[in-house]
Amino acid sequence: MLRFLVFFIFAYLFFLLLNLYIAWRRRQRNLDSRQRGKEPEPMVLDPQCQSYVPKGSALYRGGHYFCSEECARLYLAS
Ligand SMILES: [Zn+2]
Repeated sequence: MLRFLVFFIFAYLFFLLLNLYIAWRRRQRNLDSRQRGKEPEPMVLDPQCQSYVPKGSALYRGGHYFCSEECARLYLAS
């Protein structure tokens, strides 16, 4: 009977630690994604249409950033 009780307590502690570990992992992952989302993306000015475009989605042509292929073509042609 005592052996069963000890086994039960160990099993309970094991699951408790497992749950804590899973919760911790989940929290770490949430923090990581939140930090990634918070990172500000630099904005660049399109000299053709004078609009600001996130650098990640801007086109780099001839030393300037453009919002679209059309703007780049028009600006570089002028
Ligand atoms: Zn543009």
